Amino acid sequence: RGLGDVYKRQLPKTDEGLPMNTDKKLSSLLSQIIYKYTIASTLFITCVVIGLFYFLNTSITSRLLTEYEESKLDLIINDSTHEANHINQALVNIDSQLTLLRNSQSDFFERPQAFSSDYLDPEFTVHESGALFKTNDNGGSSLYYSALTPMTTDTIEKALKTEWFDSNLKEITNNNSLIIQTYFNSYDSMNRLYPFIKEPVNVFGPTMNIPDYNFYYLADSEHNPDRSTVWLEPYYDPAGQGWIVSVISPIYNGDFLEGVAGIDLTLNQLSNQILNNYDTKGFGALLVSHSGHIVAYNDNAERLLTLDPLVILDDGPIEEVVMIPESYNLVKLVDDLSLISLSDRSLYNNVMLLNRPNIVTFNKLEESGWYFVSIVDQNTFDKDRLLIEEETKKSMIIIFFLLLFSTLIISFFYHRKAQLFSLRISSPIANFAQQAKNFSIDSLDIEKPEHVNIVEIDTLGKEFYLMANQIRKRTNQLIESQTENRRADETIKKHLKDSITDPLTNVFNRRKFDDVLDNEILRSTRYQSTFSLIMLDIDYFKEINDTHGHTVGDDVLINVASLINQSIRITDILARWGGDEFVILAPETGELEARALAEKIRSKIELNTINGIRVTSSIGLTQVNTNGDNVRNLLSKADKALYQAKKLGRNCVVTYNEIGEPDR
Ligand code: GH3
Ligand code: MG
Repeated sequence: RGLGDVYKRQLPKTDEGLPMNTDKKLSSLLSQIIYKYTIASTLFITCVVIGLFYFLNTSITSRLLTEYEESKLDLIINDSTHEANHINQALVNIDSQLTLLRNSQSDFFERPQAFSSDYLDPEFTVHESGALFKTNDNGGSSLYYSALTPMTTDTIEKALKTEWFDSNLKEITNNNSLIIQTYFNSYDSMNRLYPFIKEPVNVFGPTMNIPDYNFYYLADSEHNPDRSTVWLEPYYDPAGQGWIVSVISPIYNGDFLEGVAGIDLTLNQLSNQILNNYDTKGFGALLVSHSGHIVAYNDNAERLLTLDPLVILDDGPIEEVVMIPESYNLVKLVDDLSLISLSDRSLYNNVMLLNRPNIVTFNKLEESGWYFVSIVDQNTFDKDRLLIEEETKKSMIIIFFLLLFSTLIISFFYHRKAQLFSLRISSPIANFAQQAKNFSIDSLDIEKPEHVNIVEIDTLGKEFYLMANQIRKRTNQLIESQTENRRADETIKKHLKDSITDPLTNVFNRRKFDDVLDNEILRSTRYQSTFSLIMLDIDYFKEINDTHGHTVGDDVLINVASLINQSIRITDILARWGGDEFVILAPETGELEARALAEKIRSKIELNTINGIRVTSSIGLTQVNTNGDNVRNLLSKADKALYQAKKLGRNCVVTYNEIGEPDR
């Protein structure tokens, strides 16, 4: 682990999760905090709104969908009930036609004498097999009498007189488009059938035993003790009309079963005429017998159940009853066997046909005991549901993005507000900092702070301004008093300087020189050091004054002082002793050296003309004697040497030792 990690680990964190030593601008810190909390709350509210909206939307949608589905189911039930009633009515009509046949035919057998054979014009022939049949199509029905029954006058009379049936058979068959044929079959295998068949022997065979057939025996006393109308299961018509259902009714003469009247309906006609209507709604529709056999179906049902086309049998007599195949039994087609046995008027969801769920309704037709069955592809419901759910999802997405968008706008707005607010706090503080910096560096001016309408900051600004003004005032006072002090100092210094300076030549005056000399004598005594005193006087100065004027004399004095100053060391002290006389103190200088210096000064003055005037000087000098010299005798010694120089003719240097006076 590197040092950096340790360092990081040890860094304390602030509430904001920032390391404390990270420098941040106040404005960005403030705006970050404000923005964070505002955006967090905005986002939170947005999420809550979206969640609420989603919850409401889905619950309302699902409730609406459920209601919609229920209403659609209601609609299906209503439709199918309506259709079933409609079909039942058609069957009731057929039953009433059959009743008409039964009544008239019963009447015939009960009162045969009431029916004369006059004006009847059928032509019969006896087939070689012994069977009798009608050869002329007189607009009525065909007649067939099986060879099983011996022909007697009675049988022939029955064959003849039942021509009375024809008008009813004809009218009923022609006036109802559902009816393909109507007939009467007798117990002794006589068949009267409309429409006319030209050679029925070829169709039925010569020895047909009618009571063996379903369309006869199902109406007999054993199968139909209450003598009602019987609706048969679909079968193949021996008379050549294909797949049919028959509705039959027994004809009794007292308790004797004379025969059976019947009406045939083809499956095709039932399918095309009765269920046609239903086809347009896209629903499957079926008529199913009480044992489950399909009596009629529309195209949708054919498709949904994948029904194979029914086989058309070859021509020729049909010896036995051919019932509709079991592939046309709904009970076999639909897995749930209980369906058919159950229902009077009911609806089933999710009935699987070809692995697809369907809604199936059953309506019992009271007339025939059949069922009207409607089949609706469940997917049409699911499609609606999917469509609605898709729409819901779409609108959810749109609303989500709208909310998101508005959140972004709001947060942008808040961000801007946060920045402005932060600036309102931070910029006056930054301004104070800048002003304080300027204040401390150069200017004592401070701007009056602007009002930001935040009490603390405004108070801070006001106090800051007052404080700065106080500081400026006091600083100015301080500067003023400092200037005064300096001025007083300068005056004192000037006075001090004036008190030790000769005003004309600007070298030390006699007072100062006395002090220096005193001091130097003390020093030399204490440290056993030496020094020399040189005394210089300008020659015939009075003459210069007199000749050139006092002002020129002053100039000469100034120039001589300057020339001396140029020649001496910095440690040497020059002073004007008075009049045209100067003294020089040369510390650490013996007589010989002092003499050399004096000579140098003398020649320098001599060689320099001043205002065109040649000036010379006389110099006397002496070296201090540390064993007894005081100011007075030292000066006296130098003065004596000078006197000697004057005496010797001026413009020369004389040392005290040279004049031979004993040193004191
Ligand atoms: P000597 O060679 O013997 O020294 O002759 P001298 O003329 O120089 O005589 P002395 O030294 O006695 O003369 C000094 C003169 O200097 C007398 C005075 O008028 C003159 N003097 C004194 N002070 C000043 C001054 O401040 N300015 C001017 N121009 N002359 C002054
Ligand atoms: Mg003089």
